[in-house]
Amino acid sequence: MIESSSQSGVRYRAILRHELPSLPQIQALDADERLAMMAVSAVLPFRVNQYVIEELIDWDDIPDDPIYQLTFPQHDMLSPEDLSVMQDLVRRDAPQDELQTAARKIRFRMNPQPDGQKEYNVPCYQGEPIQGMQHKYDDTVLYFPRQGQTCHAFCTYCFRWAQFIGEKDLRFRSGETDLFHAYLSEHPEVSDVLFTGGDPMVMRSKHLRACIEPLLSPGFEHVRQIRIGTKAISWWPHRFVHGEEADSFLRLLEEIRAAGKLPAIMAHFSHPVELSTPVAQEAIRRIQDAGGVIRTQAPLIRHVNDSASIWAEMWTRQVALGCIPYYMFVARDTGPKEYFRVPLARALRIYQRAARRVSGLARTVRGPVMSALPGKAHLTGTVEIQGRKLFSLQLLRGRNPAWERRPFFSKYDEESAWLTDLEPAFGEREFFYRKELLKMLAPGGGKDRLPVRAERDNTIRNSHELQEQQKNR
Ligand SMILES: *Cc1c(COP(=O)(O)O)cnc(C)c1O
Repeated sequence: MIESSSQSGVRYRAILRHELPSLPQIQALDADERLAMMAVSAVLPFRVNQYVIEELIDWDDIPDDPIYQLTFPQHDMLSPEDLSVMQDLVRRDAPQDELQTAARKIRFRMNPQPDGQKEYNVPCYQGEPIQGMQHKYDDTVLYFPRQGQTCHAFCTYCFRWAQFIGEKDLRFRSGETDLFHAYLSEHPEVSDVLFTGGDPMVMRSKHLRACIEPLLSPGFEHVRQIRIGTKAISWWPHRFVHGEEADSFLRLLEEIRAAGKLPAIMAHFSHPVELSTPVAQEAIRRIQDAGGVIRTQAPLIRHVNDSASIWAEMWTRQVALGCIPYYMFVARDTGPKEYFRVPLARALRIYQRAARRVSGLARTVRGPVMSALPGKAHLTGTVEIQGRKLFSLQLLRGRNPAWERRPFFSKYDEESAWLTDLEPAFGEREFFYRKELLKMLAPGGGKDRLPVRAERDNTIRNSHELQEQQKNR
């Protein structure tokens, strides 16, 4: 049984953009920096809370502090032109609608929906797309519950950032819990359900229960793993520790376990400091005591965690706390991508050096991994073939499972930062999966459950291969 924590009365409160000027830590910045922060936060979503400010950020080390970089807007996150437009508006205290119009324009240039998430992964039920679901790989369905479309704090690099800024067209969420359950009951190939967002842990426990409890009853025997993607252990560990909301969530985990299924917490940890506080460690212990398994993942981000020692320390702490390191991701091509960009060659070196330093128990982690249009692409290393240095890759997950685990090679270079930047190694026009991928994504070419074709697909449009093909035409 779960016991209530003795400490209580800890209440979450979001700190938003309009409160920035009144934070003592921000008042201590010089005027230019404050202006830049107000300008950037008008474009990119901003939210923190007292736990992040007081327990995770070392204010003697700003602006370099990794959690400060991860949560507070920095001037270089916008291009110099965009920054100056926004600064002018803030300086002359422009009306809200003028500020919003300028901000929207900039956002739409920042590739708010990368990698065909919205166009290609939305499944159909009885011929209609179900908003708020993604079903890309046969065994796993993603669900974005309506009440879970925010977080306890926002990461400046978030690839779901468009969710948070009220751009209706870009939002990805569901109010259709019944449809979700109906869809699952008709798809016996689905063994895993992943609740994601935003962060489902911002939801009241009773709403989470409404999503999860039906999956424990007859008709859903095929759903064996119930995953919850969250950053709440980092941003608001009290969610698992204090009060009735915490206890009722943990009871839900116990019930999932009692029904013979695995509750898996897919925890987002960017930096070891997030694991250092007593309340975060207690949150981990309580989840585990309730039968939850915690797997950990995060993207590799310049200014935040771009060193081997940070990852080695993070994985080491995670393993000691009973968590399982799972993925090191490459950040997607969205938002302030230039600010956070780590080229693949460097990402690979960081992964390899970190992996060599840790216990075998931490080497469950795979990286660098890109969640790209054809699947989850894993950069496995460099090789030398006939005197030329190459990248070796594989798809851990493929839109077509037949593509998985087959080694393929690209030219090596120091600048590429995404799968679509890479060139096939041996003069081929495209990687082996490419033709079939384009066919799958064409109108009527997909599986039944993939209904819609992209109006705008940045991944294809930007791709080196396609540009080459167009040139050759
Ligand atoms: C990563 C991912 C999954 C889950 O993949 P695992 O390797 O099983 O963790 C499912 N769906 C999508 C769209 C994903 O990106």
